Amino acid sequence: MPNTDYTPWYVSPKRKCKLSDFDTEPPAKGQASGKELEEHLADMGQKLDKLQSTLHAAKTRGLLVVFQGMDTAGKDGVIRSVFTHVSPLGVRAEAFGVPTELESRHDFLWRIHAKAPARGEMVIFNRSHYEDVLVTRVRGLIDEETCQKRYNHILHFESLLQDAGITVLKCYLHISKSEQKKRLQARLDDPRKHWKLQPSDFDDRELWPQFTQAYEEALSATSTPESPWYVVPADSKPYRDSFVAGLIVQTLENMKLKTPKPSFDLSKVELK
Ligand code: AMP
Ligand code: MG
Repeated sequence: MPNTDYTPWYVSPKRKCKLSDFDTEPPAKGQASGKELEEHLADMGQKLDKLQSTLHAAKTRGLLVVFQGMDTAGKDGVIRSVFTHVSPLGVRAEAFGVPTELESRHDFLWRIHAKAPARGEMVIFNRSHYEDVLVTRVRGLIDEETCQKRYNHILHFESLLQDAGITVLKCYLHISKSEQKKRLQARLDDPRKHWKLQPSDFDDRELWPQFTQAYEEALSATSTPESPWYVVPADSKPYRDSFVAGLIVQTLENMKLKTPKPSFDLSKVELK
């Protein structure tokens, strides 16, 4: 069974995160078989569905799960696998691309805040406000000072959400450069996957060291015990999915959600 102590993958706010200290592969010790991972994912999926129902019924807390990672890291894939067992009524996924003309005339959190969960909701972000300190930084669209200010805006924003009962859980899907090469090649080789490719995927690959550095700085600056970053080993898809499902279940279980009591005396109800 996969490890359920996620602390080794938690980005400690106290020290500078080095991504090379984290494995992209599953830990060799106690490695689970493909079948075990599949069973664990199914098990976590069922738990997630139950926890989501309670979250919706209680309306005391909300959850925002943020996925970031290099191109082909598996943001779409993990969302598909982990949330298949959850009722579509209970979860909302939002993807963020290049800001529109209107969005870019607002502050960078404007479009993000509008899609944040309410209490009772679970929302998944495929890319997020972190793009505004990553791709923008690497491409030189913002300077160092603006970037530092944005880290602070992000910390305050996530703390505001926390105060409103919304937990923010952030997953960096960690793949190796060689795994990305395989996945890009697979997309090039399969005409059904061509639509997924864009020129920036290849340009961004050339900037791998710069993106790595931008991620390391952003993760170090914005991981907090309340809104933690986890570095998810993502070279193996089954392990990645199982890891993320378990982490979300644990986060929801820690909320100690309770189904609300009925607002009227059910013993007085008489069905005719
Ligand atoms: P995809 O996730 O493959 O649909 O690609 C979305 C693209 O939008 C990626 O190349 C991102 O880097 C880019 N993107 C997302 N958010 C921003 C942002 N705030 N500023 C600039 N580019 C962004
Ligand atoms: Mg892409």
